[in-house]
Order: sequence, then structure tokens, then C-alpha cells
Amino acid sequence: MISLGIDFGTSGARAVAIDAAGKTLAEAKHVFTGSKLATAPAQWETGLFCLLEQLPLELRQKIEAIAIDGTSSTVLLCDATGNPIVTPLLYNDDRGIAVMDELRAIAPPHHVAIGATSSLAKLLWWQKARENSEFGIRNSELINHAPPTTHYGLLNDQFLSPSQEAIYFLHQADWLSFLLHGQLGVSDYHNALKLGYDVERLCYPDWLLKLPALPNLPQILAPGTPVGEVTAEVRSRWGLPQGCVVRAGTTDSIAAFLASGANSPGEAVTSLGSTLVLKLLSRTRVEDARSGVYSHRLGDLWLAGGASNTGGAVLRHFFTDAELETLSGEIDPNYESPLDYYPLLKAGDRFPINDPHLPPRLEPRPENPVEFLHGLLESMARIEARGYQLLQQLGATPLRCVYTAGGGAKNAIWSQIRARHLGVPVAQSAQAEAAYGTALLAQMSC
Ligand code: ADP
Repeated sequence: MISLGIDFGTSGARAVAIDAAGKTLAEAKHVFTGSKLATAPAQWETGLFCLLEQLPLELRQKIEAIAIDGTSSTVLLCDATGNPIVTPLLYNDDRGIAVMDELRAIAPPHHVAIGATSSLAKLLWWQKARENSEFGIRNSELINHAPPTTHYGLLNDQFLSPSQEAIYFLHQADWLSFLLHGQLGVSDYHNALKLGYDVERLCYPDWLLKLPALPNLPQILAPGTPVGEVTAEVRSRWGLPQGCVVRAGTTDSIAAFLASGANSPGEAVTSLGSTLVLKLLSRTRVEDARSGVYSHRLGDLWLAGGASNTGGAVLRHFFTDAELETLSGEIDPNYESPLDYYPLLKAGDRFPINDPHLPPRLEPRPENPVEFLHGLLESMARIEARGYQLLQQLGATPLRCVYTAGGGAKNAIWSQIRARHLGVPVAQSAQAEAAYGTALLAQMSC
């Protein structure tokens, strides 16, 4: 059986095809060109089909299952035929700050959906904009980005204003999956967490359904659930076999967790990318919005996590990647640097310390760059260990080992420093690509 995972991340899209044993058979990559274009559904559509095209035809003919992950809280509205009627709002778009009062008024205190970038904040922002008649984009905006094969067929420059009942609210992964299986209004409970979906009771909460003039909210399935077969058109265009099924997807960061190889309670993944992101597989659900801690459902388990603003972006501010490599090599990881920093580029962190005004602490700065880097890596390791302690204090399953993903994962010296603070084995993730995790999701049918 061949399964295909497709990952839509922040800078591009990737596909990984695996066999039943989890062996990678083929990979494909598509880089978005230009930040504005990366927001356009037409770009996503081109990216999706470009990935399929890159895979050898003999392999495509054997793909039995496909799943797609997208960036969390990247959302759009579309009409009943799937045409986007707004420019999508990206994962990090914080215009929802304008509706925070409304959000707090409807959602229970400290709910995970209360946040300027949450899917729910974006939905409320659209509703408010529509009330204020700022809603809609000109047809010409869509036409500008539309590739020749797209189904946008709009020719004049009027505002689009379908009736509310015909509007569908979708996440990026939902819309891309729709392009394959043709069913509008289906999502998964990873993408839907920050929309307010109740992942414990598996339903939308009453406080959400009570909102006036809601668009069609997606039906929510467990990630990996079969949604439907690829359409006849997609099948014949890309040479996919009869019976090739599209399964409900996930978010890009959960896909990276799935790719790591972590699969039992107590196993965790730290992402050392621009920021420091912790995810710990737990038997219990832990939530503490005040310190930025929340849990995703993963089958019968929970994925407890938090994200700190410290991380690789601070390292990159002071050092090139080449310097990071050579200078790290001169650090003795068995010796604990006495430098006690809180490395941030600007004030404020949410996890493990929740203080929007927390000042960066980067003094004293030794003249020797090796000592300075040692202090930074040591201090980030302390913050990571404090983060896992917090998750465990809140009730998560005790930490047993940590896999590492992201740009900092290759730094073996840092891994040794981190292992000293964490007190558990630290290993690199089995697979670096989120698309690999999504391929596993397509395969495992959970
Ligand atoms: P993201 O996808 O979040 O932008 P990546 O996973 O691509 O980030 O990782 C990039 C980060 O990795 C950079 O911020 C860089 O500082 C850091 N990095 C690169 N090489 C090393 C290294 N040898 N040691 C520690 N960090 C590194």
C-alpha cells in the first residue's frame, strides 16, 4: 500500500510517499514565490497539483490514501462551489485583536480559541467586517491570482456577496483536501481546536453555535478518517487509482510530531526552529491558557504543548549558521555555563513564563563568542526543561525522552547540554519532514 502525505508549511509545500513499512518511496517540493502569492488559494492549488505532477506516474497509480496538513489557523471563506470569496487569513495574522472583547464575551474564560490569531478570532473578524460592509474582495483580485485550470470564473469587478447560508468556513487543509475529494465542509479536530470545537465531547459547543449569522462550519472528523475517494476528474488527470481515498488531515506542527517517531506517553518532541516549541504525549489532557499550555487530542492520548519566543531566531540574530556550527564545536557540554539569560528578540513570552512584558536578558555578554553562545544554548536548555516541568506539574505524563526537530536539531553539543538539564535521553526525530507524518496519518486510519 502506498500512502501520500502532503504538507503545506509556512514557506512551501512538500509531499512524501511511503510504503506499508514506512519507507520513503518519493518526495516532491514546491516553494511559494513571494509572500503575497503564498496567501492566495490559487497558489495553494498550483502547489498541490505541482507536487502530484512531480511524483512518477507508476507510483501515482498505486497511491491508496492521501492526507494533507496545513498551517494551523490559516482559514478562508468560500461559496457553495468552493470558490474562495475572501483573501485567506494566515496562521500568524493577528487582526483578530480587534474582536478580542467579543471573543472573551462568548467563549469560556481562558479558552484556547481566545487569541488574536485563532481561527475563531478570524471568523468573528470576518463577521464584523461583513456587518460593516468591508467584507468581500474584488473579483479582479481573484482573477489576478487564478491559474488557467482553476474554477474561478469571475469576469467583472463587483463585490462578491453570496448569501450567508451558502458560505463555508474552511481551514487551509480542508480546502486543499476539497480540491481532491470534492466535498465541502469537512475538517479534523486538530485544525478545529482553535475554532472552538470541543475535542473532548466531539461537538461544537453551544456558545459557538449560538452566534448569529454563522457561515457553514465544517463537520469535524478524527484526523485520518476517510472522507471520500478522489474525484473522477482528479483521478484521471493525475493517474490515481480507483478507490484512492482522501483522509481527514491535521496541522503542520502535529504532522512534524507524528514524523518524529514519538508514539507512547511520556515521549516528547522539541522543535528548535525560530522559536522553541514543546509537545509531550500524555495520558491526561492539560490546559492552562494563562501560561500558553493546551492539548490536542491524539486518538486516546493528548498532545500537551507550549511555545516560547526564545529559540533559533535569537541565535540567528547574533550568529550565522556556519558560526553556530564551528563555535558550538568548541563548547564543552559537560561544563554548565554560569551565564543566566532569557534570550528574546523583544520583550514578552507566554510559555513557560507568561508575561507579555518579560524583558530579554542577554547580559553580561562575554567577549569570547564561544562563551556567549554557550550561555545562550545553556539558558535555552534551562527554559526548555522548565517548560517540560510545567507541563508535568499541570498533570501531563512524566517525560521519558525527547526527540528534536527543526534547524537546531543537528547541533549535537546542544543536545548534550539539553540532556543534562532534561535528565532524559535526547534524540533527533526519525524523520524531518512534516509530510512524512501526514503520510503516516494517511496510512494508519485512526
Ligand atoms: P523555522 O522553520 O522555524 O523558521 P528551522 O527549523 O528552519 O526554523 O530552523 C532555523 C533555525 O535553526 C535558525 O533560527 C537558526 O538559528 C537555527 N540553527 C541553524 N543551525 C543551527 C545550529 N548548528 N545550532 C543551533 N541552531 C541552529
